[in-house]
Amino acid sequence: MGRIHATALLLILALAALSPNALAQSAAAPSAEAAVIQDLALASRILANEGVLDAYGHVSIRHPGDPNRYLMARSRAPALIAPSDILEFTLDSKPVTPTGERLFTERFIHGAIYAARPDVKAIVHSHSPTVIPFGVSDVPLRPVLHLGAFLYGGVPVFEISEFTGDGEMLVRDQKLGDAVAKTLGNKIVVLMRGHGNVVVGPTLQHAVFRAIYTEVNARLQTTAIGLGGKVRYLSDAEGDNVTNRQPGNIARAWELWKERAKGK
Ligand code: MN
Repeated sequence: MGRIHATALLLILALAALSPNALAQSAAAPSAEAAVIQDLALASRILANEGVLDAYGHVSIRHPGDPNRYLMARSRAPALIAPSDILEFTLDSKPVTPTGERLFTERFIHGAIYAARPDVKAIVHSHSPTVIPFGVSDVPLRPVLHLGAFLYGGVPVFEISEFTGDGEMLVRDQKLGDAVAKTLGNKIVVLMRGHGNVVVGPTLQHAVFRAIYTEVNARLQTTAIGLGGKVRYLSDAEGDNVTNRQPGNIARAWELWKERAKGK
């Protein structure tokens, strides 16, 4: 390349760096919000891959830049959700941008809990199968291993027939969403009789971890009860200590689940 050509090239590069296009490109570089959206889509696939979500259920995250909004996919099977499926909602669960896409019927669970619980940054609603029996029997779900410690202090059960008298089983409006949030109270998990459960967390990783270990704990508790002897559960002091002071390395589990979900 001749000297004049090289100078011209440098000039072009310098101009390109100053052009509005170049500025637009740097603004379009992966933002915090784009990273959150990617993680949220990944969380859906992780929860499907780990047997918590099947064709139904959903995960959401409070908007990182606006606490009065949350992010959630359009209505789609969780294993198939991609970043392009993620939409933005107000806390009364209306899409911020009008859309013709079908929305999750039970998105009101999410909006109502974000409104009631400023500490909650992510929510999973699932029908994870091993947990269902604990919502329909009088045997309470209780922590049997340290990874399920967050179940300490009693897990409330949402009884939808106390709030609607027409045989409704789904949380399809704001009133029922508020009722779920009220039954959850200040807890981490609420069971929904004959339906599923809701798990909350201070981060997306916490909510995913807790949804997975709610299912694992239910399986192990069922096994322990099946042995026929007296079951010794984690005490409230143990549950509180592990949950609030020694939560362990959740990032390690997240990395593993992420790799497993990517391989699918
Ligand atoms: Mn449901």
